[in-house]
Amino acid sequence: MKSLIKALEKRASAGCPVQFWLRDDDAIEPTKPLDRLLDLCEQHGVPVTLAVIPALSGSPLASNLAHSSLVAVAVHGWSHQNYAPASEKKQELGLHRPLTEVVAELERGYADLEQRHTEQFVPLLVPPWNRIDAAVIQALPGIGFTGLSTFGAQTSNLIPMINTHVDLIDWRGSRGGRPTTDLANEIVNLIQNTRTPIGILGHHLVHDDNAWQFLEQLFAATVEHEGASWVPISHLLPDPRLPSE
Ligand SMILES: [Zn+2]
Repeated sequence: MKSLIKALEKRASAGCPVQFWLRDDDAIEPTKPLDRLLDLCEQHGVPVTLAVIPALSGSPLASNLAHSSLVAVAVHGWSHQNYAPASEKKQELGLHRPLTEVVAELERGYADLEQRHTEQFVPLLVPPWNRIDAAVIQALPGIGFTGLSTFGAQTSNLIPMINTHVDLIDWRGSRGGRPTTDLANEIVNLIQNTRTPIGILGHHLVHDDNAWQFLEQLFAATVEHEGASWVPISHLLPDPRLPSE
């Protein structure tokens, strides 16, 4: 974390503090890991955007989240089902089915979550596996979405993208938390080379001790640092009150 703090100090003295935002995927129902995540965020005052799977979630999750002012709820596809053949990477929002079917499900997911999570709902789509076909992206503004969040570099300018960049989990290897030094180095690299908000990506249901410890260390090192701030997703999405061009 030392190099990370140094990098933050540089940004502080340049008068250009780093913006961090936290996205955590696959919320369905109240669980111990979800409570742990919410407690951790509460302790440090860090806002979190939960990508909730509409078809698999319901009112127990909504009541569990309702009391937290730090939580925003985004739409995580519809049912997190894979429609791609085994030869392709997993995808729910590709063109393996008719476009109208995919879009109708997203519209329903939007409506369901908006109704259940009212105040906490944000019109942000988080595609399962961070994959989505360009034709589906094109349809998003028409059904109410004002933003899209995937992983890595921005790949579309059809809609504002608020991406995540640092994945806490080693999906191809241990399927547990990645080593602290790797994660810290990645963040330092982003702090030094970008000016866009840095998105940290978690999956509370699969976090092991490594992942929890890293989050805790990152929060401890950053929340009170003048070179950093943790922003809610509402600060990064376009303001719906402003007329769009
Ligand atoms: Zn997911």
